[in-house]
Amino acid sequence: MKLKLSLLSFVLMALTCHTFAQQAHDLIIKDVNILSMRDSNLLIKRSVLIQKGKIVRIDDFKNLRPAKGVKVISAEGKFLMPGLAEMHSHFPAEGQVDTLLLENVAAGVTHIRIMNSGTSQVAIRERLKKSPDLISPKLHYSQLIRKDIRYSVSQFDSLMMDMKKNGISFIKLLSLADEETFDNLMKSANKNKVTVCGHFPRAVSLEKVLNSGYKSIEHLAGYDGISDETQLEKMISLTKDKAVYNCPTLDWDLFSMNLQYPDDYKKRLTYASSPKQYRDKWEKEYAAEIEKKGKEKVLAGKEAGLAIFARKQQLLKKLSDKGCLLLAGSDAGNSFQMNGFNMHEEMWNWSLAGIGNFKILQSATVTPSMFFNEQDSWGTVEVGKSADLIILSKNPMKDIRHIRSVETTIIDGKVYFPATFH
Ligand SMILES: [Zn+2]
Repeated sequence: MKLKLSLLSFVLMALTCHTFAQQAHDLIIKDVNILSMRDSNLLIKRSVLIQKGKIVRIDDFKNLRPAKGVKVISAEGKFLMPGLAEMHSHFPAEGQVDTLLLENVAAGVTHIRIMNSGTSQVAIRERLKKSPDLISPKLHYSQLIRKDIRYSVSQFDSLMMDMKKNGISFIKLLSLADEETFDNLMKSANKNKVTVCGHFPRAVSLEKVLNSGYKSIEHLAGYDGISDETQLEKMISLTKDKAVYNCPTLDWDLFSMNLQYPDDYKKRLTYASSPKQYRDKWEKEYAAEIEKKGKEKVLAGKEAGLAIFARKQQLLKKLSDKGCLLLAGSDAGNSFQMNGFNMHEEMWNWSLAGIGNFKILQSATVTPSMFFNEQDSWGTVEVGKSADLIILSKNPMKDIRHIRSVETTIIDGKVYFPATFH
């Protein structure tokens, strides 16, 4: 269905008008096909009872005997799976945060790992606490470390103490001063049981990073400098043994190396369905950026960029084939990257790199819950888990692009219908 309305205004309208649960109602999702993500099996025509925001029973509908007042969503022929976890998100300046949150919910995102923010994360957290009706995925907050920080172990200890007080769950390393600071940071983090992840610290060797307790590496950096295949295999094995996660953010490479210039961006999965005012804005911004860089230079650099990108695709495939832990994150925020919906784009990028649909879906659901050590509370469709779920009209195990058929997003049992525009 083609909509005359812009997607964004439609999304906002759909979310605000058709949200029927301001409080977590008891709910049954009836006769749905379930992709639990515990394994790749599809449970056919089951019903899911949700109470107080949690999945309490999965059974045939006739066995559930709904109490009066329980909302029933008929979902025959549709697909239920855990909501998506956007594992690499940058938050904008104040005033734009609510739109980002809404767009993520509309795209089926129920968890966000904040990797940087133009607004105080503590302020965001306080505001969400005070306004329970604000529509938002569940947020995982970070403490950023930049290269101007040269702390001793005890200084890092007190920083981590403060983080715990403020409900900040992990450290994102943006840039590193030197190797000594890395040693101090990891010593303190391991002692205080605080997760550290982020950019690859170029002052330190990949082998040392993999052995340090560093939990996730962004953008596949660190592996890119290894030209010797045996050494690369060794590092991939170490990545697997040490359970280090990788968050590839392939879409960021497409943008940063201008690989879709001059007009391949029009073929992007999400381009045509993005709001016109967004497309107009992006096109203007992108033209200005290319102008600044110089058209000739951009085109000349594209060939080398495509080779780098192909190498990254191969690396991702190798990590995946080895059984390494992967996190899907979109790094949205640049031209042609719509918040939330860019997760669909990133998942398609992985598919083009040869990653199987189950692995892609795991990397956007259950594997992120493991990253946060929260696999007992979310990330799969199982009894006892939070009802952070999406209902799709098409099966994403058949074609990963079907992830775009999100019809319903459920967070802690609250139900949103954002997606009749597909
Ligand atoms: Zn980033």
